[in-house]
Amino acid sequence: MTPGPVELHPRVLEALSGQVVSHRGQEFHSLYSTLLEHARRVFQTGGDVLVMTSSATLAVECAVANPLQPGEKLLVPVHGIFGERMAEAAETYGLRVVRLQGPWDEAAGPEQVEEALARDPDIKAVALVHNETSTGAMVSDMVRLAEAVKCRGRLLIVDAVSSLGGVPLPVDKLGIDICVAGAQKCLAGPPGLSLLSVSEEAWKSIERRERPLPAYIDLRKHKEFLARMETPFTPAVNLLYGLNEALTIILEEGLSRWQEKHARCSSLLYHLTRSLGLKPYPKEMFRSITVIALQVPEGINGSLLLEELEVRGLVAARGMGRLREKLIRIACMGNITEEKVEQAAQIIAQTLEYLQKPRIYKPSKEKKLND
Ligand code: PLP
Repeated sequence: MTPGPVELHPRVLEALSGQVVSHRGQEFHSLYSTLLEHARRVFQTGGDVLVMTSSATLAVECAVANPLQPGEKLLVPVHGIFGERMAEAAETYGLRVVRLQGPWDEAAGPEQVEEALARDPDIKAVALVHNETSTGAMVSDMVRLAEAVKCRGRLLIVDAVSSLGGVPLPVDKLGIDICVAGAQKCLAGPPGLSLLSVSEEAWKSIERRERPLPAYIDLRKHKEFLARMETPFTPAVNLLYGLNEALTIILEEGLSRWQEKHARCSSLLYHLTRSLGLKPYPKEMFRSITVIALQVPEGINGSLLLEELEVRGLVAARGMGRLREKLIRIACMGNITEEKVEQAAQIIAQTLEYLQKPRIYKPSKEKKLND
């Protein structure tokens, strides 16, 4: 239950194992066109969606590097590791980044963004992380936040890598210009692919670009090939088959039911872990639906807790950056069920009981080897 990659449905595994087809052939055109149609329904957009053969980091880089020219200003609220990575990526491509440093137990808020935009009329776009996977904090009012950016005529770029699909985020309704998702998280697809929606307004900015970008991240190249339902470079064909099947499963279940399941499972996990004395890290209004970040209790070593959970069958993730030893992160993503959440809570209860018993500690892993 780490925040991606998530376990794959047997239908996705089967789809991954088919024969490779040429990415310039008819079969591929048909696959890509179906896949993009499915992706548009999940992103809730009538605009373009592209799929890149890369993990989401590259798609986030594309999202910030393409619509702005070197020297132009980008506002980035930073509330954790992925916000900071977004800001650093933009600087690498020559943008002037205005960081809006915020507390890590919160996510971007409309008031702070409004104030920053009012202070600096040169800011061309706002790029933010919707769900900060490193802290388990999610934007609580995306409608007002999007309005704050769009009513001032700026571009809105959203890293929804760990939330899109699992949480309502209707791209067109909100006016998001570029939205990035990772295949391996709430979409329950294989790792190695990322998805990117691009609005008409974003394409206009991308097309006025003067200095070229490296070919692989130049979205104009991707658009050129999109017209013939192809990708500019050799894609991971089998992964695309897997992702197409994963999206088919979501749409068969119904997007809103898929999202309701995410919400039910995470509120159950918050409830069960609270009764074990574990406190979520983010302030209540920012608690993520897809990444549940819990504080490691006083007197327990974070790494040890993770090791002991894994021995008992629960693979969770540690904190990141300065929160590395302080948090454990458990995902409610993809093919999550209430049953899996209950099992996870039971394992956490047993592990905490084991670690809190006063005795000379002997790691379970070592004990197993000796037995
Ligand atoms: N942005 C967010 C919010 C993420 O959670 C992640 C990965 O966990 C990334 C970006 C980078 O994604 P990837 O590891 O697929 O490159």
